[in-house]
Amino acid sequence: MIVTAGELLVEFVSMQHGCGLREKTHFVGPFPSGASAIFADQVARMGAKSRMIGTVGDDPFGTVITDRLQNDGVDVSFVEKRDSLTTGTAFVSYYDNDKRIFVFHLDNTAADDITYNKGFVDAGDTLHVSGASLGNEKIRSVVLQLVEEVSTSGKISFDPNIRQELINDDKAKSAICYILEKTHIFIPSAYDIGFLFPDVPCDDVIRCMLDGGKEIIAIKRGGRGVIGATADKTFDLTGYTVDEIDPTGAGDCFCGALLGAIDRGIPISDALHYANAAGALHVTEMGPMEYNPTLQQIKDFIAQNKG
Ligand code: ATP
Ligand code: MG
Repeated sequence: MIVTAGELLVEFVSMQHGCGLREKTHFVGPFPSGASAIFADQVARMGAKSRMIGTVGDDPFGTVITDRLQNDGVDVSFVEKRDSLTTGTAFVSYYDNDKRIFVFHLDNTAADDITYNKGFVDAGDTLHVSGASLGNEKIRSVVLQLVEEVSTSGKISFDPNIRQELINDDKAKSAICYILEKTHIFIPSAYDIGFLFPDVPCDDVIRCMLDGGKEIIAIKRGGRGVIGATADKTFDLTGYTVDEIDPTGAGDCFCGALLGAIDRGIPISDALHYANAAGALHVTEMGPMEYNPTLQQIKDFIAQNKG
């Protein structure tokens, strides 16, 4: 089982670029979202066993999230409903230059009313952590306890997923360092690498991680594709040419496709290839998990795009 815990949200996307969430404009949503939820959904779409741990309010937004995850085959038996709190929300607006701004409502919503339960994981489970969850004290505490528990018997996968809006204190930064130490599969974006290891070339970061015992590194590079590495091989995969409609969630989708493929026994070279294609497909539709592709859709896309 691949387990993840984090904030469950619905997201509203501004229909106008450059409004910066300050100007009056139209929004589309609610879309089911939350970095870990996007990941969990993609794992299930790969046909692998996926469990989501999180909390929603007893309101329509909560139903939007749990219905989506459940319909896609995610185990939601540990998604708890809070009667007295509302579901977390996020608003996002894009600029023309690839930048985006978020406003998150997590603190004191159902999203962060989460407590640790020893039954969340079983021996041998893989835990995926998205750094987006580490800026919130309550969610961070649950994630850190899970990391401690899983690291004795299973694997830890980690996407730092740095969001300046969410990572704003030293406790979040030290949690990132602690988890990185315990990580077997490291899946940062190029931005995360620049943030965590300023001025260190990517190749040096990869070498250092592998020397330190990491099993798989995959550095996500948006439209430029991905660089992957294991102890004995490096993979440099260029990005597919697609029309990017909405980039949010591509990284989480990439991680879910990679972990799901590995869990199904697919060799790492193919798993990276599938994840690269999954991320490309993901950005072609509006919404953070509207186009989490199935394994078959990924294979069809690769077949259609063979050069
Ligand atoms: P986020 O944090 O918003 O979820 P990220 O920065 O972690 O994203 P990205 O590098 O944006 O992750 O995207 C993950 C992967 O998806 C890329 O490595 C690539 O394989 C694919 N991808 C993303 N954007 C594009 C694009 N415009 N064209 C083709 N492939 C893309
Ligand atoms: Mg990311």
